[in-house]
Amino acid sequence: MVSERVRERMVERVREQGVRDQRVLDAMARVPRHVFVDAAISSRAYEDTALPISHGQTISQPYIVARTIELAVAGVQDPQSMKVLEVGTGCGYAAAVLAHVVGQVYSIERLRALHDLARANLRSLRLSNLHLVLGDGLLGLPAQAPFDAILAAAAGAEMPPAWLEQLAPGGAIVAPVGVETQHLVVVRRDATGRMMRKVEEEVRFVPLRSGVQ
Ligand code: SAH
Repeated sequence: MVSERVRERMVERVREQGVRDQRVLDAMARVPRHVFVDAAISSRAYEDTALPISHGQTISQPYIVARTIELAVAGVQDPQSMKVLEVGTGCGYAAAVLAHVVGQVYSIERLRALHDLARANLRSLRLSNLHLVLGDGLLGLPAQAPFDAILAAAAGAEMPPAWLEQLAPGGAIVAPVGVETQHLVVVRRDATGRMMRKVEEEVRFVPLRSGVQ
């Protein structure tokens, strides 16, 4: 299959950029990214770039998807035991990759049109451990909390307090933070409840917005 070879090259580039967690690289190799982009640009599906989807949103760059998941599962022996929240489903690509790495994924999107698009994109993948939710991710997802990890695909000036409240002991939040310039920020809660914050590389994400549309 041509797309499989091209996908392997994409994964190789992600590895060269420094993502070494084999569980994440294997998941990247298994998810067909072309399913998630418009037919008109599907020839570019395996480039390591963000691409436009609809409603002014983007499908994240493969490297960033891999890096975010790698940070979220760092040091976790059995990611299959993890329950994870993703904020910003978009087209559903990162949610699909995540669902190949961890046990349970809840992915929340505020735009109904994209929530529906993700559902359609994901149908053929039959990921029974991936749950799509229409809602405002700024509030987290209290009904399913606590989470072992919270990943955000949209940036705010600070992490919403709800995410910190809904993080299980031993868990991590990985989110882009900043307005003019954004950085990937990791907040870890240790077993005693103490929070540690680490700033990683500079990134560019679409902004977090409030309310469901
Ligand atoms: N995860 C996607 C990237 C989506 S882009 C991928 O795999 O490529 C970021 C998404 O976050 C957009 O669809 C945007 O609508 C959504 N978003 C922004 N603010 C949000 C909020 N408060 N709650 C839920 N989703 C939000």
